[in-house]
Amino acid sequence: MSGEQNRTVFRTCPLCEATCGLEITVGPQEQIVRIRGDRDDVFSHGFICPKGSTLKQLHEDPDRLRAPLVKKNGVHVEVSWDEAWQTVADGFARVIEKHGRQAIATYGGNPGAHNLGSMLYNGVVYRSAGSHNKFSASTVDQIPKHVAGGYMFGTAQSIPVPDIDHTDYLVMLGANPYASNGSLCTAPGFPDRLEALRARGGKVVTIDPRRTKTAENSDQWIAIRPGTDGLLLAAVANVMFAEGLVSLEPRIAKMTNGLDELRDAVAELTPEAVAKATGVDAHVIRTLAREIAAAPSAAIYGRIGVNAVEFGTLNAWLVDALNVITGNIDRRGGAMFTMPAVGGATTRGQGGKGKGFTIGRGHSRVSKKPEAMGEYPVAILAEEITTPGEGQVRAFVCLSGNPVLSTPHSKQLDAALAELEFMVSVDIYLNETSRHADVILPPPSALQKEHYDVSLYTYAIRNVANFSDRVLDLPADQPDEWQILAKLGGILQGLGAHVTAEEIDDAILRQSVGAAVATTGSPVHGRDADEIFELLSANGRSGPARQLDLMLQTGPYGAGFGANPDGLSLQMLLDNPHGVDLGALEPRLPEALRTPSGMIELAPQLFLDELQRLVAKKAEMESDGLLLVGRRELKSNNSWMHNMKVLTKGSLSCTLHVHPDDAARLGISHGTSARVTSRVGTVDVPVEVTDAVRPGVVSLPHGWGHNVPGTKLAVAAEKAGVNSNILTDDKVLDPLSGNAALNAIPVTVVPV
Ligand code: SF4
Repeated sequence: MSGEQNRTVFRTCPLCEATCGLEITVGPQEQIVRIRGDRDDVFSHGFICPKGSTLKQLHEDPDRLRAPLVKKNGVHVEVSWDEAWQTVADGFARVIEKHGRQAIATYGGNPGAHNLGSMLYNGVVYRSAGSHNKFSASTVDQIPKHVAGGYMFGTAQSIPVPDIDHTDYLVMLGANPYASNGSLCTAPGFPDRLEALRARGGKVVTIDPRRTKTAENSDQWIAIRPGTDGLLLAAVANVMFAEGLVSLEPRIAKMTNGLDELRDAVAELTPEAVAKATGVDAHVIRTLAREIAAAPSAAIYGRIGVNAVEFGTLNAWLVDALNVITGNIDRRGGAMFTMPAVGGATTRGQGGKGKGFTIGRGHSRVSKKPEAMGEYPVAILAEEITTPGEGQVRAFVCLSGNPVLSTPHSKQLDAALAELEFMVSVDIYLNETSRHADVILPPPSALQKEHYDVSLYTYAIRNVANFSDRVLDLPADQPDEWQILAKLGGILQGLGAHVTAEEIDDAILRQSVGAAVATTGSPVHGRDADEIFELLSANGRSGPARQLDLMLQTGPYGAGFGANPDGLSLQMLLDNPHGVDLGALEPRLPEALRTPSGMIELAPQLFLDELQRLVAKKAEMESDGLLLVGRRELKSNNSWMHNMKVLTKGSLSCTLHVHPDDAARLGISHGTSARVTSRVGTVDVPVEVTDAVRPGVVSLPHGWGHNVPGTKLAVAAEKAGVNSNILTDDKVLDPLSGNAALNAIPVTVVPV
């Protein structure tokens, strides 16, 4: 791509869920000159956060791996790709022959949901491993929303998003979009959109134990006790029923089951009954309910602070139950379903009814945890590795993840990984997790990859589509990420070190095309599969772009390979580098439903049972012991952006936030260190005394703890911080989704 002059290219930022458009200036030597927001991007309109421009530093980071590493005599050394692949093939062959396929565990980290190659090819690795021991970052994050949406609306993707551009009243629980820019609510420039909401006379209410920047920029901050959100949400529902404020739209009422059951379930949970446990005055809860009911439109939105807790799925259910009973589901300004361009579970097949969703189709070997979405809680990975017996995990494939920092009781997992017989990491860094790997296979930098946000556009507040071609060429001997994953899949299938990514890719595409032409209702139904395959391959592309073209063309807006000449295709997106706007969200019910009944299931029995369990714990929640919660910073991104000096300099640091009242009571002061102890661990951490947390709550950010031998993260090691997951408890899980409780952890704090 090199030339004489600067060139300008446009690309979607893959670092978080906001999908901001970037304008990237590339110099004649193929160096990145500048990155700024793309003002013509159809979705982000020029918005960019401090992380977006650091794609340049990420690309240039000397610690980013540019060749595979193999561990020899306990030390990682650079090797050729051929040697790395042979080591991978030999390692897995040994483990499979000795212990069988169930001895392999796989883990997909958070970046896997942000890269086109991993979104489309991680599955090849999982399927090829042939093991039910599948884990991912979903169980330290958002899986409760999938489970709740699955039971209520029919599929794991059936997650309504708040229509923040049109709502009159937005309630956010455990969400801090001023730092995260939104999650399962893809909305570039989320803060600007909140300001626009307030400027048009709407109201924003933030419910959070911390006075986050989002809370500061809201009309009201409700400082709840951590882990008690389910009680507050149930009390809001209680007021709705008790005061006759329930008002389902007639068309929604006709397709809703369980209204009476929900009313009965919350009958005792009055605002007064939950005030002590939640720490929120009854009149505040009552007023909140009345204001939601009175608003012309309202949307209730809960995210990680209410998902990564013991009652995560219950909370996710109650959020959307409130959206339903207040008449706000599936209407402008309420909580709506996206119609993604590449389609998905809510657009496939006949609309209005489906197979539905269930958990517990299998159970884990050691502690019998139920499966959810085909995976098990990552919190149990350590016990699966260390507990002897048939099916014990002996090998591990870690795809762009750092579970040693990001999952509960991390010291235990760190020790367990050291016991493995074989481990492969696909990662750009030699980090706290990949240091255990026998082989590390580094993908290229983000600027060297194509991109389309298949996952995140599924939960966008507008229907949009935007494809990014690679900004920089791949170095000669650097395989693309999809090639690494496809080849790894082939090796796991037993095809040997010489299997090519291309043959695996062709096989996958032929399978996908075969499914498309066989599906009734598909625009290519009945067409010749070979012809479609050739059309997709005609432009010389392979890998994810070719797969994406098929998904776009057969999706809800698709060109259908000529059937709809104005429809979407890869070529159309290449012709529109600022993206294609497909319009505001429109009502999609009942067509988007996939429940077996064809109804919204407002009160599934397992959620009602879970509410009873919460009620039984209410007295325990009324105690006033210290509770630990997490924290997200705008310039941080879980564990993997701490090697960027431009982000970690200045204010970003790993400190314990303590309320002044608690600090005085505990005898600790600002700038000193405190010792924090939970059931499973202890850390010493610098203290920041601040009233940005409510009394009784301390807060520690996650993703830190980089002072580990055997890593290669020079900048991160300088400002290592402590790993908050040394404190989080692997035994406290949301029982329905398996999500870890990363918040509301009982701790003691003493001066050091
Ligand atoms: S908000 Fe997210 S997508 Fe946008 S520039 Fe920042 S990191 Fe990138």
